[in-house]
Order: sequence, then C-alpha cells, then structure tokens
Amino acid sequence: AGPLIAIDGPAGAGKTTVARAVARELGAALLDTGAIYRSLAWLARERGVDWGDEPALATLAESLRIEFVPAPASEPDSPQRVLVRAPESADVTAVIRTPEVSEGASRVSSLPAVRGALLGIQRAIAAKAVEAGGCVAEGRDMGTVVFPNTPHKFFLTASSGARADRRYRELVAKGVAETSVGEVEAQMRVRDQRDSSRDSAPLRQADDATLVDSSEMGVEQVVTHILAAVRA
Ligand code: C5P
Repeated sequence: AGPLIAIDGPAGAGKTTVARAVARELGAALLDTGAIYRSLAWLARERGVDWGDEPALATLAESLRIEFVPAPASEPDSPQRVLVRAPESADVTAVIRTPEVSEGASRVSSLPAVRGALLGIQRAIAAKAVEAGGCVAEGRDMGTVVFPNTPHKFFLTASSGARADRRYRELVAKGVAETSVGEVEAQMRVRDQRDSSRDSAPLRQADDATLVDSSEMGVEQVVTHILAAVRA
C-alpha cells in the first residue's frame, strides 16, 4: 500500500497541477474530487434534474459511476480522462470544465445530501488506489471530512489575482474560454464565497494540514515541498 495525500484549497490555487505532479512522482493515482461534483452537475443537466433539487441529486449521486483514466506515459502532462457511465460510457473530460458546469458543480456541492452520497465513491476510489501504490486526493474537504485520518494533509492557497489568472489560462488552453479574466475572477469569488460559507463541509484548512501559499512559488517548488514533507 502507498500513502494517501490530501490536498485542499480554493479554485485556481494550482491544486490539480500540483496534485498531478505529486502523483506522478510517487507513482500514485490522482483523485480529482472536483471532477466528481462536476460530473454530477453534468449528469443532472443531461437528465433534466434541477441543480437545486437535493433529493433527486442525492439519488443521482448514489448511482454515479465514474472512472478516471490516466494519461498514457508518453503524455505525462495530459490530464486524465473522466468517464461517466450514464449508462453508456461518456467522456466528459472537456464538457465538465465549462463555466456553466463549474457553476452547477458549485451549486450541487453545497447540498449536504449530495456530499454525503458522494463520500462512498471517493473513499472507494482512494482505497483501491492506496492498495495499488498511493493516492493523491484533491478537493475542498479531503483533510477535514473525507480522509480525516491521513497524516499527509496540505492546504494550497494563492492570492485571488494569481488564482483567477491561472484558471483563465487553463480555460484558454482548453479552448473553452468564452469569458475574460475579470469575469473568471468574479465567478471564482462567488464560488469561493459559497464554498467557504456553506454549512456542509465548508472550505477550510484542517488543523493538522500544512499551509502552502503558491502565489510566489512555481509548481516545481510546491511539488518539491510536498514530496519532502510526505517522505519525511
Ligand atoms: O476543484 P473544482 O473547481 O473542479 O471543483 C468544482 C466544484 O466542486 C467547486 O466549486 C467546489 O464547490 C466543489 N467541490 C467541493 N468539494 C470537493 C471538490 C470540489 O465542494 N472536495
């Protein structure tokens, strides 16, 4: 079995990039829990389920079948693919990153019944990955709620300007930027506010997590820092 590493923080702090690099270095799997909330929001829209309909969303979450397919070794910087069985297998990798689905993910993730219904799937994926060599889980409540017992917890943050800038460049790179950086920052602020003020598992640093501010640090530096702490 390998380590279970929890990385939490607000949108655009670089969690995904950092988590991917840490996972690669350790030969561990990457558990992108935001992609799970995004996939649920996408599936709800497909099924005509309202993003505020808590009972229907919880039922949908119970039945969510999701699979992460790592990028081939020849393309180490490519994102892993996200497949949802709905019931036919759909590749949702790109569609879950649109601003619309981002908003949906933020809305459905504020509902306690949805968060509860998705606990099992997150823990099951992580347990399997740990067995196979390790898991880097990233999200908002990895260290506080989903994996409170892991000794490897990091809270990654950055200034809001740096975060909006990064998220905007990600969207441009994916060809889904139909907005400006200012608009991305405004949307991000709304989601951050919702993430930190919701009653159910609000975004916060676990008491025993290591704080890493990436505003002035490159990805390499952050990754090195985390690896050193995990290996210590
Ligand atoms: O990290 P990402 O931006 O992909 O997450 C999408 C949305 O899912 C976020 O806005 C956040 O509200 C929610 N989320 C969450 N808990 C997690 C991961 C993501 O509430 N563990």
